[in-house]
Amino acid sequence: PRETTDVVIIGSGGAGLAAAVSARDAGVKVVLLEKEPVPGGNTKLAAGGMNAAETKPQAKLGIQDKKETMIEDTMKGGRNINNPELVKVLANNSSDSIDWLTSLGADMNDVGRMGGASVNRSHRPTGGAGVGAHVAQVLWDAAVARDTDIRLNSRVVRILEDQSGKVTGVLVQGAYTGYYVIKADAVVVATGGFAKNNERVAKYDAKLKGFKATNHPGATGDGLDVATQAGAQTVDLEYVQAHPTYSPVGGVMITEAVRGNGAILVNREGKRFVNEITTRDKASAAILAQKGESAYLVFDDSVRKSLSKIEGYVHLKIVNEGKTVKDLADKLGMPAAELEKTLASYNGFVKSGKDEQFERADMPRELATAPFYAMEVAPAVHHTMGGVKIDTKAEVMGKDGKQVKGMYAAGEVTGGVHGANRLGGNAISDIVTFGRIAGAEAAKYAKDN
Ligand code: ADP
Repeated sequence: PRETTDVVIIGSGGAGLAAAVSARDAGVKVVLLEKEPVPGGNTKLAAGGMNAAETKPQAKLGIQDKKETMIEDTMKGGRNINNPELVKVLANNSSDSIDWLTSLGADMNDVGRMGGASVNRSHRPTGGAGVGAHVAQVLWDAAVARDTDIRLNSRVVRILEDQSGKVTGVLVQGAYTGYYVIKADAVVVATGGFAKNNERVAKYDAKLKGFKATNHPGATGDGLDVATQAGAQTVDLEYVQAHPTYSPVGGVMITEAVRGNGAILVNREGKRFVNEITTRDKASAAILAQKGESAYLVFDDSVRKSLSKIEGYVHLKIVNEGKTVKDLADKLGMPAAELEKTLASYNGFVKSGKDEQFERADMPRELATAPFYAMEVAPAVHHTMGGVKIDTKAEVMGKDGKQVKGMYAAGEVTGGVHGANRLGGNAISDIVTFGRIAGAEAAKYAKDN
């Protein structure tokens, strides 16, 4: 006998788990399938924050923001090729998504700055701990509390359809159970991106050939193939983002929040070379243009104290420490006089509120408290902007331009929300908001069919 359910969700990252919670709350049966032995996908690695505008945590901190400004920043960061309707959904629901996560037990009360944002709107747990692991855990707990049928080691290899192209279920390859079919009225594709698949990345962007990636091993793109085989249309696949600050020594991504909280980028000559909080595409290109194709994140003890994530980097022994700026420069083999000059002039900009060199808009603190620190950083493949084409209800669009009946998608597997370049903090916002929508819409469709 074939198994039957209402909604199948593919992928246990933030998008899949959010979809599971909202579908269960809509009263339908859900089976969630995850190919990896551990849940959480790339979501659990997300270190920055969740962008949202006009939120309660912002109000508490006296931050003035507008949904309209979040839309403008997101479009500008995406070089204006984003689907504006999807961007509106992202921004207009963002505050509500913060409330929703909070109602499920999340702490999103710390608000910081990420690249390309004109105000502080990146929400994260108090003390600046990793937002992705926290959100993934909260959503996992919520899905489990709602008796969601979650299966790990279970890869979806086909979305099944009837002759009219309407979704009828999935073919699963269980790592220990073999192939089996689950019949379902609706399927939510929440399988993430393909940044860990360098062959595929290089096919779309040859410059990224051989690059390291910040992603979890499951970010290979097989879910995208499953969706396109079942008729989904794709958009913007050629846009692949490098994260500017990956530690080649530690093999880990250094969160953008280190810069957001005040660190600067300097090259081997001890000089700044870019507005550190510009968008990721521009920061990555600027680093690659420096001698050695890498740079140093330089900060002081006040930045370290502002962000608990930095303690992890210290334990990984990827943070160089100097008792003075000169001591730090000597350890890095950098001209000390230049680094001293760079910090002095940057601190002057912090005081005057105007970065006369690179027009960095937000300079939260002077870098003047010893000890001083530096981490070597270089770009690594981070996010794939393109993917399955969806509408504002997370319905998947077919190659014929019509909706694929019963197929929904959310998160990094989709394209259009981020255009040519995703802003830091918009991935978590994307997966929570569109995951919720996909789950609710799939549930509604399943009830009606
Ligand atoms: P998002 O941020 O969009 O939620 P994530 O990368 O966090 O994306 O999560 C996607 C999840 O989907 C990962 O855990 C990944 O292992 C899983 N996944 C990808 N392809 C498949 C597949 N074919 N079947 C089941 N799970 C898949």
